Amino acid sequence: MREKQIRCPNCAYRPRLGDHWSCVPRCGTLFDTFATGGRCPGCGHLWLETQCPACARWSPHEDWYVDPQADRVMVPARADASPGLPLTP
Ligand SMILES: [Zn+2]
Ligand SMILES: [Zn+2]
Repeated sequence: MREKQIRCPNCAYRPRLGDHWSCVPRCGTLFDTFATGGRCPGCGHLWLETQCPACARWSPHEDWYVDPQADRVMVPARADASPGLPLTP
């Protein structure tokens, strides 16, 4: 089973339990946007973008979810490959 991680695509801030977003300028409801998938429980509006509490930038809600496996693309394909050296065929 692969669990998705949540972090800001801009500054890598990871939302904590207790972080809340407010539905403004719509209904003003406070809610945890990652618990509801971006849906406001007050008015039902789906927020396609989420603002980071740390860097205040807006990013598509989907971009906040990362697959932990995808973070390992920088690992060399071969165990004996040296970083920085081109692989000769
Ligand atoms: Zn709302
Ligand atoms: Zn951020």
